[in-house]
Amino acid sequence: MITLIEKIGFPLSDENISVIESCAKIIKNGGLVAFPTETVYGLGANALIPDAVKGIYAAKGRPSDNPLIVHINDIDTLNLIAKNISNKAMLLIDKFWPGPLTIIFDKTDVIPKETAGGLDTVAVRMPKNEIAKLLIDKSGVPIAAPSANLSGKPSPTKASHVIDDLNGKVNAIIDGGSSDIGLESTVIDMSTDIPCILRPGAITKSMIESVIGNVILDKNLLNEHEKPKSPGMKYKHYAPDADIILVQGNNINNVVNKIIELSNSYTNKNIGIICTEETKDFYKNYNNVISLGSKNNTETIAKNLFDTFREFNKLNVDIIFAEGLPEENLELAIMNRLKKASGYNIINV
Ligand code: AMP
Ligand code: MG
Repeated sequence: MITLIEKIGFPLSDENISVIESCAKIIKNGGLVAFPTETVYGLGANALIPDAVKGIYAAKGRPSDNPLIVHINDIDTLNLIAKNISNKAMLLIDKFWPGPLTIIFDKTDVIPKETAGGLDTVAVRMPKNEIAKLLIDKSGVPIAAPSANLSGKPSPTKASHVIDDLNGKVNAIIDGGSSDIGLESTVIDMSTDIPCILRPGAITKSMIESVIGNVILDKNLLNEHEKPKSPGMKYKHYAPDADIILVQGNNINNVVNKIIELSNSYTNKNIGIICTEETKDFYKNYNNVISLGSKNNTETIAKNLFDTFREFNKLNVDIIFAEGLPEENLELAIMNRLKKASGYNIINV
């Protein structure tokens, strides 16, 4: 398959809009288009056509029991695909849509089982990115879109990441620059009596609680041995090719010293280090050191994480030592991705 690769700039020109219109037509008619959102790039298909949705699973190599997030642009479409929408869910919608919050509802029969991974529920998000919004609008259908990476690889935050993984496997890739957030959406289950966060993201627990009161975290987020409620959270995800060892502790000097000790002990391996602006100078004697940004600017750290994983693939490192962060607010989402990438290979100091 020849993949069309289209670059789109802001503000959108008439030419850009007609490119988005042709991509929308591809989606409406059952094809696959990768497109930017504010979280990560998505691989979109018409959520209402089972064969189109199967195409997503095939292109990504995604297990068929891992349901897709359906992207919409208006509440009429929500009412078409979801039912039993609670008042609390409506409060979240008013506050956080469009934006990086995915909400799980009971599904209607309009959503085929392929889209829902065989579940009775459907995950729905209204994205904020202008290109994503226009694509949904022009296609006139809800768009099922998981992250536009090969299953198991880090989610794509730049079009070049999508091209590396999916060129030749999808009809079109829209290049809209780097993702603003760089981590996948927060997923919250509102289909149960007690709202439950299944995947942490940029909309944090405390932001959600300030709108609807107490919510819980899925047990799997507190203890890796608990079965996650979200099918996708059980797979090893987001990982670079090298093994990652995560070093965590309250005292940053102990963390740095442990990473230096480990780096010195793996003499026959090509090692990489993931650190912050505050600590990078401690690792001057090592070659493959990447700072995610300042620990005082966690938005930048979130934005750089997956790109850094892919940079390490180019450096051909065998093993990566990564500094941990305190697990609160946005750091909870960053640490969730790092822990999963490490396969829970964590050293506490
Ligand atoms: P991705 O689209 O790659 O960001 O992954 C979507 C995430 O949402 C995966 O972890 C899915 O398992 C999860 N998800 C999608 N639909 C549902 C659902 N109905 N119930 C629980 N989790 C879901
Ligand atoms: Mg994904």
